[in-house]
Amino acid sequence: MDDPARLRIAFPCQHESCPHTAAIVEVSRRGQLYVDDDQDIIFRVFPDAQGTIRITGFLPYTNFSSQVTDFTATIQAASAIDAAALHAIDQSWVPFYCPRCDRSFCAEHWQLTPRFNWAFDHYSGTCPIGHPHVINHC
Ligand SMILES: [Zn+2]
Ligand SMILES: [Zn+2]
Repeated sequence: MDDPARLRIAFPCQHESCPHTAAIVEVSRRGQLYVDDDQDIIFRVFPDAQGTIRITGFLPYTNFSSQVTDFTATIQAASAIDAAALHAIDQSWVPFYCPRCDRSFCAEHWQLTPRFNWAFDHYSGTCPIGHPHVINHC
């Protein structure tokens, strides 16, 4: 399979016939010319990182980048739009995915409340079916 240096994939909401995107997942191989501040920090903190994964377009406060240690597995899971496979690699990567439903949902369908402890701390709430969900990766 083709192993691109950078991949940007929209994960659709899987709630009934919802037309929205749950989130955008972007996987970048280390060594890209374009490196943003988040990625720069990741590569300094994790010298062995093969790349980064970035989630955008879900909820406020959930735009974040993480290090990728297995670039091939990550790019394959993302290009297959397989949130379960990404969740299996790292549970924190797909905050828009409910493992008990095995579905991704957009922000509109989650019942999530941001909790603050001086600054944003975490989200807690449930998926549309009622499974408890906490998003905490700061
Ligand atoms: Zn669920
Ligand atoms: Zn939706």
